Amino acid sequence: MAGASVKVAVRVRPFNSREIGRNAKCVIQMQGNTTCISNPKQPKDGAKNFTFDYSYWSHTTPDDPGFTSQTQVYKDIGEEMLLHAFEGYNVCIFAYGQTGAGKSYTMMGKQEPGQEGIIPQLCEDLFQRTGENTDPDLTYSVEVSYMEIYCERVRDLLNPKSQGTLRVREHPILGPYVEDLSKLAVTGFTDIRDLMDAGNKARTVAATNMNETSSRSHAVFTIVFTQKRRDQMTSLDTEKVSKISLVDLAGSERADSSGAKGTRLKEGANINKSLTTLGKVISALAEMQSSKKRKSDFIPYRDSVLTWLLKENLGGNSRTAMIAALSPADINYEETLSTLRYADRAK
Ligand code: ADP
Repeated sequence: MAGASVKVAVRVRPFNSREIGRNAKCVIQMQGNTTCISNPKQPKDGAKNFTFDYSYWSHTTPDDPGFTSQTQVYKDIGEEMLLHAFEGYNVCIFAYGQTGAGKSYTMMGKQEPGQEGIIPQLCEDLFQRTGENTDPDLTYSVEVSYMEIYCERVRDLLNPKSQGTLRVREHPILGPYVEDLSKLAVTGFTDIRDLMDAGNKARTVAATNMNETSSRSHAVFTIVFTQKRRDQMTSLDTEKVSKISLVDLAGSERADSSGAKGTRLKEGANINKSLTTLGKVISALAEMQSSKKRKSDFIPYRDSVLTWLLKENLGGNSRTAMIAALSPADINYEETLSTLRYADRAK
């Protein structure tokens, strides 16, 4: 894993109407790659600084010079990961944060010019680059899958008719996989867009006090990208297969802060189990990298379905990036601070 470390970005969104309605104050400041959060109860000495690879500010209009566009976020993070995939690495980008903080906006965005998130821009870029290939000995193939992990169970988002949950198994060479998960071959970006639209409609969403369309599940979009090269002398093919996993995580808010009870509370505990395990896995990998230890037996991949399935995309031959989405408002101070701490541990 030479040189591998987790790229970490934080991105603050503009105030939403609820925050404006409550006259919320901004607790986040950014300068260069440093993010500062001030404690609204101790405005004088309660500020904390965090440094990340990128700190993305958002103002209310895209004309503001401090506004970080969707294109810029893609250029910094998505493109780099795509280039790693062309080199043959497995890559993973995930968005972490409280519900309503901007995870889906960052990953999917909106279907308007300039508003598209990392996933559509990465797909478009992938097909643009493969389309420019003029080498007759090099061929590409792209397959996609889209699943949802909800309460430690996996559901196929590309086959809404598939009822119930799918089994997670382990292949002796290829590692963990989901049995019977649809894997569809695609030849262009519009194929993917149509599949994703159908998949997104199938996502489990449930209302909580935090946000009516709060997503309580993790959505994992995977692109299996194969580059096949034919050797003219021997007529033998060699294949380079990269798995690109793009993950929109469930809201990181604690179950108690959204007034959840019963099933919702249990749901929160399960979601937090995946998020906590993901945090542990990433900080263990970061630590392993910094101390140059090579032992991977202490990485607790198996403790959650999410980390188990992302095993091949997190450790070993892989590159990972995380974008932590933040609300700017004082009313979300505690959650935002805990998101910053989570992101800080991933470095
Ligand atoms: P999450 O997926 O974390 O629950 P969303 O991505 O749905 O949150 O964001 C909540 C709202 O805020 C959406 O209406 C979204 O369009 C808007 N939003 C989030 N991030 C930004 C941003 N960086 N710039 C502009 N609007 C944003």
